[in-house]
Amino acid sequence: MSLTAHNPATGVVLHSLPSLDEAGLERKLARAAEAFRSWRGTPFPERARLLRAAAALLRKDVQRHAELMALEMGKPLAAGRAEVEKSARALEYCAEHGEALLADRPVDLGGPRAFVTHLPLGAVLAVMPWNFPYWQVLRFAAPNLVAGNVGLLKHASNVPGCGAALEQLFTDAGFSGGVFQNLAVGSGAVAGILRDPRVAAVTLTGSTPAGQSVAAAAGAALKKCVLELGGSDPFLVLPSADVAAAARAAASSRVINAGQSCIAAKRFIVHAGVYAAFREALVRHMEGFRVGDPLQEETEVGPLATSAIRDEVEGLVEDARAHGARVACGGHRLPGPGNFYAPTVLEDVPRAARAFREELFGPVAQLFRVNSLDEALRLANDSDFGLGSCVWTRDEAEATRCIRELEAGLTFVNGMVVSDPRMPFGGVKQSGHGRELGPDGFYEFVNRKSVVVAG
Ligand code: NAP
Repeated sequence: MSLTAHNPATGVVLHSLPSLDEAGLERKLARAAEAFRSWRGTPFPERARLLRAAAALLRKDVQRHAELMALEMGKPLAAGRAEVEKSARALEYCAEHGEALLADRPVDLGGPRAFVTHLPLGAVLAVMPWNFPYWQVLRFAAPNLVAGNVGLLKHASNVPGCGAALEQLFTDAGFSGGVFQNLAVGSGAVAGILRDPRVAAVTLTGSTPAGQSVAAAAGAALKKCVLELGGSDPFLVLPSADVAAAARAAASSRVINAGQSCIAAKRFIVHAGVYAAFREALVRHMEGFRVGDPLQEETEVGPLATSAIRDEVEGLVEDARAHGARVACGGHRLPGPGNFYAPTVLEDVPRAARAFREELFGPVAQLFRVNSLDEALRLANDSDFGLGSCVWTRDEAEATRCIRELEAGLTFVNGMVVSDPRMPFGGVKQSGHGRELGPDGFYEFVNRKSVVVAG
């Protein structure tokens, strides 16, 4: 059995890497258990040193890593290099702050000595998506390795080279074998791995159906799980907004990673007073992007990662059109080989259309016109998802209401939603639960043990 990567810009098979058989998987799980026994006792400064070594290696080989992402999932080179740099920063953030954040916390009981200590759990399984194939993995791995856990990566099947490269990165940085391993398996193997007593917990970043399935398996095995799932982020534009800046950010946010980002803005909810100006600027920006081969430096928007995703995006646009939505630009795949889809703006998508409810994982913006902040908030929250959100306004009272009332894990005011190693990241509603990144990311998979020394 093997995992096969196709070049999304050409459709041609790139390579097939062997997948793990039962004996191979058993060897890796045994190694993880053994590695945990020594890694949990490794002093923090040594853990931090190794993380910094991994960050340095990432930077040294930035172009090679960016090319691998471009080839396996279609990310343009500049975006790939930025992802590698951000991943290195996450490793360094955790190296710098891990020891202090995980230090024992004294508790004043007025008598006996008491404190909370943070102990690692063991092997954490990370089921990861292809869309940010380095960043997603490293933002899981960095705090967990600092905390003394060991990592087992089950990467998306279409990026087998990235999974292998990440295991190699940790080996080259000097981590002993078993502290971070790549499991080359398909999704069918996840539930069985989770049942194994040597696996302590699971984190999944991916679609809502994958989250439901992994959460059910984790529930059956009574193991902690963190879920980072999909989103359909609202982007509110209110009358006092800087419309030109908002439209620029809207377009960038919608086409980042060819629209395949959980925190890409997807629903643009615009006050009638600025709707025409915003629409005109958004369409202009969307039509102006250079779409093409991700290996060409000038490319801004690459192909969709798989033909199945391109077909899904196409289906959602056709369904919206059939329900009466208007296409302001794009609305079609691009001719030639590869999974290219034109940057698209849809207007008046009705509630009955699938796109109104489902996550549109491609470069397709939906524009909605509203007449008040109340209506904007109602529409923004009329979603099963609750990941990111942003509002463009110069009115402080409006911004404050949005911060309090938008049902989302992140709200940005006058800026596009991005993740940052220093800030917690995660969603509410069907976008998942738990947090990665920031100080919070250290505490998801540790045993916060209360200790009282009475005498
Ligand atoms: P996906 O199809 O759900 O796959 C994600 C991972 O889950 C892959 O490793 C996949 O393995 C595995 N998987 C799929 N179904 C599974 C199942 N039933 N049981 C166990 N594992 C399963 O998602 P994707 O297409 O790679 O990624 C896109 C999704 O991720 C979008 O919905 C996006 O919004 C979301 N996402 C969320 C965040 C966040 O932080 N909230 C960040 C990035 C992406 P195989 O590849 O082997 O099927």
